[in-house]
Amino acid sequence: MAERQTYPEHEARHPWLARLLDAYHISDTASRADLERETARRGVAVACGPGCRNCCVDQCIPVTEFEVLGIWWYASEILAGEAQAGLMQRLLGFGEVGECAFLVDGRCSVYPLRPFVCRQYHVFSKPCAPGENVSETRNRDVFRGAQDSGRELAWQIIPLYGVAEENVDWLFESGYVSRKGKHLHTLPLDNIVMHMKTTAHRKKARNA
Ligand code: SF4
Ligand code: SF4
Repeated sequence: MAERQTYPEHEARHPWLARLLDAYHISDTASRADLERETARRGVAVACGPGCRNCCVDQCIPVTEFEVLGIWWYASEILAGEAQAGLMQRLLGFGEVGECAFLVDGRCSVYPLRPFVCRQYHVFSKPCAPGENVSETRNRDVFRGAQDSGRELAWQIIPLYGVAEENVDWLFESGYVSRKGKHLHTLPLDNIVMHMKTTAHRKKARNA
């Protein structure tokens, strides 16, 4: 089973965060099990590994508001020091065009709170080449984990929109979560920088 990220104080203050972290835990656990089964079935190792990052370049990253909120929270409340400064600089427009806004020095700066799609997407055989769209060049090597966990994940996410429990199932079946999706890079990400600065000032004042 994958390890769940835990931030008890923050989760007590933000019930949405606890649900999002539960959802990521469900997704990671299912994705890991799916990947193990798929690896055994194919008899080849998954190509994804540390330092591999071409999937973070020139990609559309669909996210719901709560995935963005999770990134927003993590960048403001948990990141600190050089890591936070690096992300601020990146979000303000310093960095290579085409790379994900959260890719800093070749690494995902918000890895524990990265969106579902980044957790579930895998490629077999060999790593993606720079600029390669694997879905076009060798779709057979693409593997998305946790695809059977959609309903379980919906039960974590849909109620965050204020939906009553009796409506979760039919809304899930009607594609509610997909309709809530937005492209990560079309969002006003520089707002996160303002929030990071405000939070840093608040923390400094509290500790003074
Ligand atoms: S999806 Fe491609 S680039 Fe991304 S980690 Fe896997 S092999 Fe590497
Ligand atoms: S959020 Fe992180 S893992 Fe996802 S595309 Fe951006 S840098 Fe890559």
